[in-house]
Amino acid sequence: MLAEQFDVFLFDLDGVVYVGAEPLPGAVQSLRRLREEKKEIRFLTNDPCTTRKKTAAKLTGLGIEASAEEVITSGWATAQLLCREKIKTAFVLGDENLKWECEQAGIQWIGTDEADPDAEAVVVGWDSDLSFHDIQKAVRLIYRGAKFVATNADRTFPTPAGPSPAVGAIVEAIRISTDMKPLVAGKPSPYMFNAVLERFPAASRIVMVGDNPYTDVLGAHQAGISAILISGDKKKKFPSALDFRNPDAVIPDLQSLFVDGLAMKKWNRPSFSWPDYVQPGVAGIILDEGQRVLLMKRADNGLWGIPSGHVEPGETVEAAIIREMQEETGLTVRVKRLIGVYSDPQSQVFSYPNGKVSQFITVCFECEAVSGELEWDVEETLDVDYFAFDQLPEDLLKMHPRWLKDALDLKEGHISFIR
Ligand SMILES: [Mg+2]
Repeated sequence: MLAEQFDVFLFDLDGVVYVGAEPLPGAVQSLRRLREEKKEIRFLTNDPCTTRKKTAAKLTGLGIEASAEEVITSGWATAQLLCREKIKTAFVLGDENLKWECEQAGIQWIGTDEADPDAEAVVVGWDSDLSFHDIQKAVRLIYRGAKFVATNADRTFPTPAGPSPAVGAIVEAIRISTDMKPLVAGKPSPYMFNAVLERFPAASRIVMVGDNPYTDVLGAHQAGISAILISGDKKKKFPSALDFRNPDAVIPDLQSLFVDGLAMKKWNRPSFSWPDYVQPGVAGIILDEGQRVLLMKRADNGLWGIPSGHVEPGETVEAAIIREMQEETGLTVRVKRLIGVYSDPQSQVFSYPNGKVSQFITVCFECEAVSGELEWDVEETLDVDYFAFDQLPEDLLKMHPRWLKDALDLKEGHISFIR
């Protein structure tokens, strides 16, 4: 049975232990049995409109043993995150529970009734009276340098009338206006998981039990622990076996933790991180008469590389490579042929200063320079030069030797397929 395979159980609450004010069938008995078997239990909720103490009291009221120390709420995790970031003042879009958690952590909060708030951080939680003006104040503060922090980024929460916008809807309004990604305390962000996991020895067998693949399962797998999904639908799966959102087991309710014959499937963690975006890119290989390749030394990381860039919305791939080569080398080029399409997840997943993580799918062409002189923007490029294939610089971006090898092989007729 699944219960025997773990020492520590992390439970999501809504949809797993209870729905609204009602415990789910079998939840009370199952949690009691885990206690009897001396299992460690923690409760992780993204609900920012409660405190650890209130949540523990609610569980106790339902007949489930729980202490405040065993509950991790996104509001509490947010206050801890603010402390870690050395934030002293926060403009809070949230209810009194979130403000209370901030106070307990020694953070001075400023509410939305302040006409011109000044704070080191904007904290987004749940406030059903939120107005456009409150979002405007938050955006202005972020433009002035305030950190952007959110209790969670859940898109919706269930109501009897259907899904209702959740904290993520407010987060998106601010994100799209500032082009900044927030620091998120709640699931699936690693912050809430790490706050729990660091309390247990590394060898502990830990599992997250949740009903949401996007928060509970994704977060557990990112944190390196197993994940059980509570769902009546066994068939729903994300198509890639490596997808972080695929659980290790699916059970209909907590009683099933004690059913004989249920096994955990071992999820194979991919060696790359979870990208927020997949973006199209282009790269251009230009050879001179001596068959030397044109490389540029990038200002952002100090490494040599093949000239490359993004495909902008509304632009064809061919137009993008011609524009990028013009911008980065000063040369006007003609596209000769496709070398390959590359998306190595380890070397082509990039984290940006605004917090976004992008994976590139880069279309690499051989190009011919038809006019122009070598010139470059010193803000972006440190140097541009031609190199013989057997004398490539050592500090070359790690995915580029393969692209160059493919270009050379293609030229010599060794390969005729795209990787
Ligand atoms: Mg849930």
